[in-house]
Amino acid sequence: MTSRTALIAGNWKMYKTGDDAVETARRLLDLVKDVRDRDIMIAPPFTALSQVSQIVNGTPVGLGAQNLYWEKEGAFTGEISPEMLTAAGCQYVIIGHSERRQFFGETDETVNQKIRAANANSLIPVFCIGESEQERDSNLTFSVLDKQVQSGLQGFASGDLERLVIAYEPVWAIGTGKTATSSQAQEVHSFLRSLVEKLFGEILAQSIRILYGGSVKPNNIVELMGMPDIDGALVGGASLDAETFSKIVCY
Ligand code: PEP
Repeated sequence: MTSRTALIAGNWKMYKTGDDAVETARRLLDLVKDVRDRDIMIAPPFTALSQVSQIVNGTPVGLGAQNLYWEKEGAFTGEISPEMLTAAGCQYVIIGHSERRQFFGETDETVNQKIRAANANSLIPVFCIGESEQERDSNLTFSVLDKQVQSGLQGFASGDLERLVIAYEPVWAIGTGKTATSSQAQEVHSFLRSLVEKLFGEILAQSIRILYGGSVKPNNIVELMGMPDIDGALVGGASLDAETFSKIVCY
């Protein structure tokens, strides 16, 4: 049996104005206020963080951002620093989401710098990795993930990664309604845990949380969470509605 605390995280992507986000957060909080045995996080857009923080501060619902830039401040138009996120009430930050890799030029190297910046500012990095459909069809899944992990975590020691969360999100399953089967996901999670063990040792490998993401819904969360190496979920579309997300949280 594992002692890892499950984490159910919602990525709201570029949805919801401040007022919409507050309303959803309020409703969610009402539905999950008694949940104590797992961690919950929501990641609204930057513009809603401060408002949502006032709703969830001091509750079982943690607050995350969807990205950061690694500098403290400066002439970096359009970017947000780790200090700004902590001041807005964030405890978590999603890093290297496949949409950022695909549309905004995020690379393993920028991901590495962002994880470093998150760590330096006591933010919990949710480090996203995953293979494309073409890579899976070409039997490249494990080599792609190996490179993403090794490059993303290059230069870190195990002590730097105690709070890090890995989110395995096969790109072909994000927003498509195609979920990896629980055995496909377990196979990858087990590979990732072994990779962490090889790189950083058994203690970290046993404690690190590895989330699954990709079309997680109330009707597939139970089976996914039944897998020994799946420690939670990163949920996109199904986290936008408080009732639906609360069903996933309370699987
Ligand atoms: C995501 O955005 O990280 C995600 C997994 O999206 P969805 O749940 O909509 O597939």
